[in-house]
Amino acid sequence: MQTIGSYLDVEGRDFYFQGCANCDKRCCDGRVGFSLAPLIVDDFVEVYKHFPILFGNVNDVFRPLMILNDGNSPCSYLGANAQCMIYEERPPACRLYPVSPFFDAVFVDSSCPSVSDEIIGEAIVQEGKVVEKFYHKRLEHFSDKLERTSAFMKRLVENICDFEMVGNVSGVLLYRYVGEFDNEWLEMHRASLQHLQI
Ligand code: SF4
Ligand code: SF4
Repeated sequence: MQTIGSYLDVEGRDFYFQGCANCDKRCCDGRVGFSLAPLIVDDFVEVYKHFPILFGNVNDVFRPLMILNDGNSPCSYLGANAQCMIYEERPPACRLYPVSPFFDAVFVDSSCPSVSDEIIGEAIVQEGKVVEKFYHKRLEHFSDKLERTSAFMKRLVENICDFEMVGNVSGVLLYRYVGEFDNEWLEMHRASLQHLQI
């Protein structure tokens, strides 16, 4: 079985999920959980209406990033009852985690304490396939989407002066694009900047 850190290749396997109610890791709170998530350009349309899309260097790759919070606070869409207030419109990373595509394989993060390969909770993966309730089209043709994102970034970084630093979250310097090149993804990037106060 292929593994990458805590991520396990689901091929041919079953995994179960017990839900978030009793978990201390609190993914939605930047003080203990996630603050940034890498994006592919296909994600932009499901992200820009709620979160800033910026650019930054993570794992030696300059890439688009979704900014979930400032690194010291919960997601602004996390309700008092720990429910997501934009549940039906939450971004793909929130929909899929602890499942994640890796090129054309699918992995599950075993560091999520609610993930198990024993029958505890509800099935998220059966015989290597993500079940319908947890499925998202992001998982389809993921290599092609990565290539599309790489080509987009390659075009943008032709002139590195076209990036302006706007902040720092969890030690990652974050940039917006101020160059003249334009396309639908950059329009969504610019529209997303209205959320920078997050
Ligand atoms: S680590 Fe897993 S169980 Fe805990 S909040 Fe995140 S998704 Fe839920
Ligand atoms: S959008 Fe919802 S699921 Fe995603 S981090 Fe915010 S509160 Fe959590």
